[in-house]
Amino acid sequence: MRTYYCGEVRQQQIGETLTFWGWVDRRRDHGGVIFLDLRDRTGIIQIVSDPQRTPDSYEHAEALRNEYVVKVTGRVSQRPEESLNPKLPTGEVEVYADSIELLNAVRKQLPFQVSTADLEPVREDLRLKYRYLDLRRGRMSKNLQLRHQVVKAMRRYLEDQQGFIEVETPILTRSTPEGARDYLVPSRVNPSQWYALPQSPQLFKQLLMVSGLDRYYQIARCFRDEDLRADRQPEFTQLDMEMSFLSQEEILQLNEELIAYIFKTVKGIDLPIPFPRLTYAEAMEYYGSDKPDTRFGLKLVNLSQLLKDSGFKVFSGAIKAGGVVKVLPIPGGNAAISNVRIKPGGDLFKEATDAGAKGVAYVRVKAGGEIDTIGAIKDNLSDTQKQELLELTGAEDGHLLLFGAGPTEVVNKTLDRLRLVIGKELGLIDTTKNNLLWVTEFPMFEWNADQKRLEALHHPFTAPYPEDLHDLKTARAQAYDLVFNGYEIGGGSLRIYQQEIQQQVFEAIGLSPEEASNKFGFLLEAFEYGAPPHGGIAYGLDRLVMLLAGEESIRDVIAFPKTQQASCLLTDAPSGVDAKQLKELHVASTYKPKT
Ligand code: ASP
Repeated sequence: MRTYYCGEVRQQQIGETLTFWGWVDRRRDHGGVIFLDLRDRTGIIQIVSDPQRTPDSYEHAEALRNEYVVKVTGRVSQRPEESLNPKLPTGEVEVYADSIELLNAVRKQLPFQVSTADLEPVREDLRLKYRYLDLRRGRMSKNLQLRHQVVKAMRRYLEDQQGFIEVETPILTRSTPEGARDYLVPSRVNPSQWYALPQSPQLFKQLLMVSGLDRYYQIARCFRDEDLRADRQPEFTQLDMEMSFLSQEEILQLNEELIAYIFKTVKGIDLPIPFPRLTYAEAMEYYGSDKPDTRFGLKLVNLSQLLKDSGFKVFSGAIKAGGVVKVLPIPGGNAAISNVRIKPGGDLFKEATDAGAKGVAYVRVKAGGEIDTIGAIKDNLSDTQKQELLELTGAEDGHLLLFGAGPTEVVNKTLDRLRLVIGKELGLIDTTKNNLLWVTEFPMFEWNADQKRLEALHHPFTAPYPEDLHDLKTARAQAYDLVFNGYEIGGGSLRIYQQEIQQQVFEAIGLSPEEASNKFGFLLEAFEYGAPPHGGIAYGLDRLVMLLAGEESIRDVIAFPKTQQASCLLTDAPSGVDAKQLKELHVASTYKPKT
């Protein structure tokens, strides 16, 4: 029987004889005495085998190599002063091995050393191909255990304290309304018909509210066939929730408690609740982003009012065309950021143009409020305007002001990027902070320029604010996102449960009654049999765990992730299939390899 895991032994166990099962992390031969670091999922314990003290195990210890699987029984002893290891939780003890049993050797050359992989980066393709070895290492094993702790905390809070019920919803289903491309599965028994894998359980969870389930949650797998730029996965996991008869206020409060519970149980961190809130309009105004990182300042200032009649046509022209002029004031920016970086060819110029801007105008504030800038801006500012510029931006000696002028969207995107890059560079981000922020009152729709139509920003079942119903096109949605240190970790909304409003929303996004009934007829019909007011939210579990683990990629908190090309290097999925299988599925390929 296993008495202890390797990583759990402490001084209290000194004198006890214990048995461990695990892998040889490292084997060192110190002039006749052999030291083994024995590893299991909890960590490492040092095993000692010595020809004098433990002659029975010595021969076996000699034959061991890295990653061999062994069973070791031995006595826990205090380590001598000179070999204490404060870096290891077990670093005060070691185990004198009375017996070592080899359970399995390694028969092939290891593609990389597990024992050093935490310290010396291994190529990611190798890690993914030999994922089972990669997951043996401390860091990855800890990440999976953290993920488990997070899910466990979610379940404990939702089930035990709030009466949520977990329900599984179908994976083989119809298209769901999250707006990405579907993964499709051909039906063999229904020739030429297809299932879609769910992009989220959205429709089913709303149906469960019609069923009277009242409070639903699910640790749900979602599938979205998107181009995997950034850190996305074709399948990912959500904590998905839906609840009936709660107001937005009550939903936000319950979710604050949930998140605080997770932080407390998993990280021991006390999050102050309620979380701060910004409306979407405020977030865009002050940060140029709907997921602002509020761990640092550098807020944007809108100068449109001041500069609308400026003789500098870049400014006044942008405002006349319906756009804005905004500025990012950077204290100490004069010393830190050179002109070269802002002008064509510079890195900040590139950030701006990548965001769609034509360039960046700038002003340097000197002693006594003197301003130094390219002629065109200076020549077109009156003394009172200069004064007002300083007042609005709070700029003093040493401030650099970066300007964005043009369509609101482009200006926001540009200054948001510059703000993040510069905040990081100047060390303004306090990485010990855990800033949770609700962003509320999202617009119902955004303009899809390609298709020349309005599109639901969240999804078409999101309820507008009743007071905005007179002009649905500009209405605010009763939708909310939870932002953690600049990452969106969750989002949801109150739902429409009245048919007339649902019709209006479909109309606004150009969905005819036929199309609507074709796509979501079953849900609309269900709503005619007594739908309660309801709302919900979904969290991106992978991202949340990534942030809690301090990792930079969600691939590092998913056991078997896919690459940017959506393939699994371990199993070689996706793969070709037999012609016979395709035939049974009534599917033929139209693919012609490029010659
Ligand atoms: N289904 C939504 C999503 O995946 C979340 C929600 O509205 O509850 O983003």
